[in-house]
Amino acid sequence: MLVVMDRKATQEEVDGVVEAIERRGYVARPIPGGERVAICVLHNQGPVDASYFLGLPGVKEAIPVTHPYKLVSRESQPEDTVVHIGDLCLGNGTLTIIAGPCAIESEEQAVTIARHVKRAGAHIFRGGAFKPRTSPYAFQGLGEEGLRILAKVREETGMPVVTEAVDREVFDLVETHADMVQIGARNMQNFSLLKRAGRSHKPVVLKRGLSATVQEWLMAAEYIMEGGNTQVILCERGVRTFADHSRNTLDLSSVPVVQKESHLPVIVDPSHAAGRRDQVIPLSRAAVAVGAHGLMVEVHHAPESALSDGAQSLYPQQFESLCREIDPIFRVVRPQRGLGLNKLPKVAGRGLGR
Ligand code: PEP
Ligand code: MN
Repeated sequence: MLVVMDRKATQEEVDGVVEAIERRGYVARPIPGGERVAICVLHNQGPVDASYFLGLPGVKEAIPVTHPYKLVSRESQPEDTVVHIGDLCLGNGTLTIIAGPCAIESEEQAVTIARHVKRAGAHIFRGGAFKPRTSPYAFQGLGEEGLRILAKVREETGMPVVTEAVDREVFDLVETHADMVQIGARNMQNFSLLKRAGRSHKPVVLKRGLSATVQEWLMAAEYIMEGGNTQVILCERGVRTFADHSRNTLDLSSVPVVQKESHLPVIVDPSHAAGRRDQVIPLSRAAVAVGAHGLMVEVHHAPESALSDGAQSLYPQQFESLCREIDPIFRVVRPQRGLGLNKLPKVAGRGLGR
């Protein structure tokens, strides 16, 4: 249930409705919008009787929420969420490019790649310090040292950095060092990790699970928002299918579906979808054409000796071509705007408890 307040409702009236909801044993979550405040009723086991709230001062209407996801749904917030990562905005109508190696391997490797991708047009640097690997014998990442290197990259290039928190144990550490925390595909339904991310003061990028439906993915995002963190980005990275011509199958149809169902921004990772570099540029073009808010791309200056995902990592020159090729496509999809315009003024209401 969504209790929609009148445009002229006062703070006292909003507080009064919150109190009335909580008196009934539910949790109330006010969602400030451009025009009016809506208050989401959470933790109800079954339908909520609208008549409890309709007569209260300042209440305009009460709308039943038809989806299992509430806070992430467009019904509860018609306006797009803008996520703030360092000084950047993602989801504000510009295209945000996140790029870097799969894993941080050394300071020299990270800084070299960061300089390349920044020059080519990347806005945010990515790199795993803790790596979720299929084999326990594969490189697991540099751990805390990797986080220190990421901080160095930020210092040297000015780019915000994103890296994965593979479990609750490392979440605090990752949250302290990174500008954005990634929750990987394998952890999309790690509910205790999602709850921890919900209490974070940093933005979170939530990758789609290996075989998750869009609804399951949105429900995972609901866990994070339910914890109070409104700064969530969804990342489509391909799902497992019968196809064996690529590592996964990039499900670009999820982008318009997410944008219809949710106000959260959605980006595309063509690298983990493809698993091979020759598909990454065409898939990136398609992702921009379908209306993604951004891309996350793996780049390595020496992919043949990369410690993970070398086969799908672009050479720096290829990444440069990618940025050149997507620019005109983005201009067609979002006329009047181009790359590099995403340093717009921050909007109010960021972070916890929005
Ligand atoms: C990654 O981005 O490094 C990664 C492991 O991705 P995913 O969780 O999508 O496999
Ligand atoms: Mn990778």
